[in-house]
This record gives sequence, C-alpha cells and structure tokens, in this order.
Amino acid sequence: MSDRMEKTEQQWREQLTDEQYRVTRMKGTEPPFTGEYVDCKDDGIYRCVCCGNELFDSGTKYDSGSGWPSFFEALDDDRVRTEVDLSHGMRRVEVLCGKCDAHLGHVFDDGPHPTGKRFCINSCALNFDERGDE
Ligand SMILES: [Zn+2]
Repeated sequence: MSDRMEKTEQQWREQLTDEQYRVTRMKGTEPPFTGEYVDCKDDGIYRCVCCGNELFDSGTKYDSGSGWPSFFEALDDDRVRTEVDLSHGMRRVEVLCGKCDAHLGHVFDDGPHPTGKRFCINSCALNFDERGDE
C-alpha cells in the first residue's frame, strides 16, 4: 500500500476522542474487557479508527479470553505493519496501521490455527463496519 496518510498531532487530536488519541497516537492500552468490540460477533470489517484503512475481517476474530478483540490474521499483510516493542520491560511485537501508523495493539504467537497468531487489538483503535446484504 503506497497511499500513506500523515497528519500532525494537532490534527489527530481534533479528529479523535481522548481515549482514541491516547491509544492510537500515544501507544496506550484500553483496560481489558471494557472495549466495545471485545464480545462483538457481528459479520463485517474492522477499520482503523484514524484513517479508515480496512484491517481485520470478523471471520478471523475469535474469543481469546484476553479482554481485547483478538484476530488470527490481518485482512492483508500490508494492512498492518509490526515493530519490536521493548517498553514496560517486555519484548513484544507492536501492531500498527500500515497506512497511518496508528498503534493498534500487539501480536503474539499463541493464536489458533491456521496462523498461530493472536492480534490483540484495542477496540478504540477500530471502527466496525457491519457487512450489508449484497
Ligand atoms: Zn490507520
């Protein structure tokens, strides 16, 4: 994906709620079991709350018990990018939006088949688009 979206911190601050800004632009984490999409099982697409980039399909969402929406794969490999995150005394792999660099969450290697991945994503970094009748 070549169409990157870049905005100033001020622009993001105006566009996002405080919680969305804190999580996506400041690499925050919402408290577990509080996000609106934790238990969402509706059929549709999860988009980046910052730029609308389509990130995850509800068909890859599963109940990990972690308290955050969990997916076993991204919609496409280039929809997200990853970076090693050594903060908080842990070695984790951060997941960012491939288009606008929003912090989305982290990816772990304890997910289900077929990928073995667990994309652990903050609800407030996502916007859900229910699939309409087609
Ligand atoms: Zn984005």
